[in-house]
Amino acid sequence: MNREPIDPVALDAAVDDGAERAFGFLERLVAIPSTVGNERTAQDLMAEELGRIGFDVSTIEIPASIGDDPSAGVPQMGYEGRHNVLGRLEGGDGPSLLLNGHIDVVPAEDPDLWSADPFHPVRIDGWLHGRGAGDMKGGSAMATLAIEAFRLTDPAGITGSLSFLSVIEEECTGNGTLAALAQDVVADAVVLPEPTDLDVLVAGVGILWLDIDIVGHAAHASTADRTVNAIEIAACLIGALRDLEREMNADVDEAAMADVPHPYNVNIGTFHAGDWSSSVPARTRLGVRVGHPTAWSADEAERHVQEAIDRAVQDDPWLRDHPPRIHKSGFRAQGYAIDPDHALVEQIRAAHRDAHGTSPSTVAMGSTTDARYYLNGSDTPALCYGPRARNIHGVDEAVELQSIVDGAKTLTRFLSSWFAGPPEGTT
Ligand SMILES: [Zn+2]
Repeated sequence: MNREPIDPVALDAAVDDGAERAFGFLERLVAIPSTVGNERTAQDLMAEELGRIGFDVSTIEIPASIGDDPSAGVPQMGYEGRHNVLGRLEGGDGPSLLLNGHIDVVPAEDPDLWSADPFHPVRIDGWLHGRGAGDMKGGSAMATLAIEAFRLTDPAGITGSLSFLSVIEEECTGNGTLAALAQDVVADAVVLPEPTDLDVLVAGVGILWLDIDIVGHAAHASTADRTVNAIEIAACLIGALRDLEREMNADVDEAAMADVPHPYNVNIGTFHAGDWSSSVPARTRLGVRVGHPTAWSADEAERHVQEAIDRAVQDDPWLRDHPPRIHKSGFRAQGYAIDPDHALVEQIRAAHRDAHGTSPSTVAMGSTTDARYYLNGSDTPALCYGPRARNIHGVDEAVELQSIVDGAKTLTRFLSSWFAGPPEGTT
């Protein structure tokens, strides 16, 4: 089918008209602290917004058995009462498109370090501050703004099927998207409005989460020189993980990561130990996130971590008798990439060029997104394109409001060209 693309001036005007309403929706969404296990209220708001725009809204449950899937992460808790939200718009037999946004946000552990309460969004100099404003509620607001503007401008414009999927657990397992994919929630192509600075994100590394339990010998601090401090042992094991990190980055043999400085980061994200300053601690638990080459499966990455720990253990008599234990704790994510020359990438770049007069870059990152499930698991083209954010996962996270409008203007053009008939090679 070949419908003529509609007047871009009208699309832009509709986006501009809807911008303030989209910002208000975003503020209400950011005000809900949708950390893992607490997604429900935010999903209800997302469902309400999708319904207001005209989507048929349903929920997609995550089965308790999801953890048995070889590409699942380790469930963080039960899935009772924790679901994905799906909006569908059916317009005919034309092409299908899925937009995927995650509702979960990472915690904001130290609100006193923030300029304002992380869950009380405030606008400062054109940026909306708040946990999740950038990663990625701002992107979801960009998508709903674009869809509404597109529908208002061209009510018959969706010639096929357009879906918006709001998932949980993107930040720790990916099991929300995996469960939806297993229930056939997919399309000819997928766009994830993650924060990409209005560039096109085409690749991510493998990500593995592990807990490492280290045992020392508890005692009174007066005998600390004769006993084994679990915190100090942990420090030496962290050194062993740094060695592994150095090895991985010494020879990056992955084309997609060629321009990414230091793509594989090993992060000590949590450290739990000790209960008294005058007691030698008996136990340390490290929560570790390992970015690793795409060529490695999660099992292979885990083996590399085990070997790095084993090498450190060999040097220490206490550790030889009390080897640290490694547990899977979340992500078991394979790296992913879409060919930067893929027709889908070119189509979104063309939409951006048309809206803004400049070509967005294609970029890769030393992190993951749920795009991996579509690219690796179902052979469906997927990419990320979204607003400009700063300090994601950090203090004073924020999204630039104008970039939401700009990204929506790209997306309306993309919707227009997509539903006029996607280019060869994407369906
Ligand atoms: Zn994200």
